[in-house]
Amino acid sequence: MNQGLPTAEAVYKLIQEFSKLPGIGPKSAQRLTYYLLRAPEEQANQLAEAILSVKQKTTLCSICLNITESALCLICGSDQRDRSKICIVEQPQDILALEHTRIYNGLYHVLHGAISPTEGVGADDIKIKELMERLQGSSVEEVILATNPNLEGEQTAMYLNKLISPLGIRVTRLARGLPFGTELEYADDVTLTRAIEGRQEF
Ligand SMILES: [Zn+2]
Repeated sequence: MNQGLPTAEAVYKLIQEFSKLPGIGPKSAQRLTYYLLRAPEEQANQLAEAILSVKQKTTLCSICLNITESALCLICGSDQRDRSKICIVEQPQDILALEHTRIYNGLYHVLHGAISPTEGVGADDIKIKELMERLQGSSVEEVILATNPNLEGEQTAMYLNKLISPLGIRVTRLARGLPFGTELEYADDVTLTRAIEGRQEF
């Protein structure tokens, strides 16, 4: 509802929608809305289409659960990747951060979350079953645990190590160069490169 604000209902509604986005406060939501109001209609259409496409055209890679528009993501579909290594990340955007360093050439597995008892997220709520099925009878030699260096990420890494070590697969963890409490997607390239290069046995 407009609640008597001195603006059009449509404007108020867009401000409300922008305000729901992470990192967008009320002032930024207003700025974006008034910017779009003045922008060419084509730009507004492109934005609306891009938002719909990201919901309608994307799916999860059938192997690594990365975001893709086809059955396999570009990484799983490539014959240039080292299939003996799988790097485990919490979110698809972590792959973007790691790929940006160009230091890693193996495959990935996206958990889509981390174990967090305080938030009621257990091992069955993230893509661990899919990972274990993938590892069974595979030729994977190393699993790199690249979960976030925070409480949930550490708990998840410990849990995975217990499951994967008995399979005879080498389990490593990103080096400690990453400050505790941060998230992978916000780490800079230099820090991430050092973390991958300096990875240690779990
Ligand atoms: Zn994939």
